[in-house]
Amino acid sequence: MKLERIPDEFTKAASVLKDIQAHGFEAYFVGGSVRDALLRQPIHDVDIATSAYPEEIKQIFPRTVDVGIDHGTVLVLVGEEQYEITTFRTESTYQDFRRPDTVTFVRSLREDLKRRDFTINALAMNVEGTIIDLFDGMNDLEKRIIRAVGNPKERFHEDALRMMRGLRFASQLDFTIEPNTLAAIEEFHPLLGKISVERIAVEFIKLLLGKNRKNAFQPFIETECYLYCPELNKYGEALFNFLDLPNKQIETDSQAWALLINTLNLKGNEIRSFLKSWKQSNQMIHEVQQLIYGLNQRLLDDWQVMDLFNLGLNAALSVEKLLFYYGQNSKLEEVRERYLCLPIHDRKQLAITGNDLLTYFDKKPGKWLGEMIEAIEAAVVNGEIANNKEVLITFAKDKIDKE
Ligand code: ATP
Ligand code: MG
Repeated sequence: MKLERIPDEFTKAASVLKDIQAHGFEAYFVGGSVRDALLRQPIHDVDIATSAYPEEIKQIFPRTVDVGIDHGTVLVLVGEEQYEITTFRTESTYQDFRRPDTVTFVRSLREDLKRRDFTINALAMNVEGTIIDLFDGMNDLEKRIIRAVGNPKERFHEDALRMMRGLRFASQLDFTIEPNTLAAIEEFHPLLGKISVERIAVEFIKLLLGKNRKNAFQPFIETECYLYCPELNKYGEALFNFLDLPNKQIETDSQAWALLINTLNLKGNEIRSFLKSWKQSNQMIHEVQQLIYGLNQRLLDDWQVMDLFNLGLNAALSVEKLLFYYGQNSKLEEVRERYLCLPIHDRKQLAITGNDLLTYFDKKPGKWLGEMIEAIEAAVVNGEIANNKEVLITFAKDKIDKE
C-alpha cells in the first residue's frame, strides 16, 4: 500500500532519509506520524528510524545534537528543521515494569517495530510513501481498533504505561480497544502503581482531551486503572458522573481538570491537594481554581463585574465554554463586550498608587493601605466612581473619616 498524497512534513524530511540511504543504511518514517497521515489527521512530529547506529548518523550529518544517545536518538539539524533519528532497537527484560534494563541496537526494522506498543503505531513508511505493515496495523486502522503488538499481557507487563497509552488513543482517535488487549488491561492494571505520576498524568490529560473521552473513560473505570491514579481511588461511583457530562471535546488542560474536579465536588483546599497529587504546576492549579470558582458563580447567576475583572478575559471565556457541559448556552460575545467595557482591566491602571495615599494621608503603611486600594479598585471597576486622582482621594478621605 502506498500513501496517495504524501503530507509536506514528510516531503520536507525526504532528503534526510535519502542521505542515510546513500550511506548504505535503511531509514523510514515510523510511529504516530505515519498513523496520523493514514488517518488524514494533522501530523505532529515526524519520527525517523534507521539501521544506522548513532555514531554513524553523526558522521553523515554535520549538525547533530545528542538528545538521547543511550536510547539511540540523535537530533539532526537541517536548515531550520530538526529531526529525531532513532536507531532500530530492541528492549529486553523489563524488571521494574517501566523501563527496559537494556536497549540493544539492531539492524532489523522488524525487530524495532515489534517492540512498539500498538499495531497502529508499528507502521513504517519509506521515502516513496510505501507503507511497511508487518503487524497488520493497516487492518486495525481500517477497523478502528487498538491492538497490542504481540501478546498484550507480556507487553503490559514489560511497560505498564502502555495501558494508559491504549486508553488515551481510544479517546484521541475514537477507536475501540480489542478484547484481548482490554482483558490484559483489566488483569494487569495494578502494575500502573509502578509508573510515575508524571508519566501517567501526560496520558490521562490526553485521554481527557480526546475527541471521544467517554469511549476511554468508561474502560478506564471498568478496568480499574483509576485505582492506581492519584486520588481517584477515593471516588469510585462518583467518577461515573463524569461520564454523564455531554461527550463534547474539551479544549484545554485546565478546562478538563476543572470539569473533572467540579464533578467530584471538591472544594477549597481539596482542589489544590488533588492537583498537587497529580504533580500539576502552581500555574495550572491557579487556573483551575479560577475556572471552578467562575463556573460555580456563573451557574448561579450572570457575571458579577468584579469577577470578570478578577478572572480576566481568557478565564471568563473559558468558563463560558464550560457552561455547555451543564446544559447552558455560552455567551462568548456578550462576555467579551462586557469585559472590554470595564473601566479598568488592571489595578495598575488606577489613577492613584499606594505611595500617593501614603503621602497624602501622611500615614504609615499597614493593613489599612491594602484594604483602601481594594475598596478604591472595587468602586472604580463597578463604575461607582470615576478613575480620576482627585475623585479617588476624596473617596479615600470619606472612607477614613467614616471609620
Ligand atoms: P502522539 O501523536 O501523541 O505523539 P505517538 O504515537 O507519536 O502519538 P509518541 O509517544 O510520540 O506517540 O511515541 C512515538 C512512537 O513510539 C509510538 O507511535 C510507538 O510506536 C512508540 N512508543 C512510544 N511509547 C511507547 C511505549 N511505552 N511502548 C512501546 N512503544 C512506544
Ligand atoms: Mg509522537
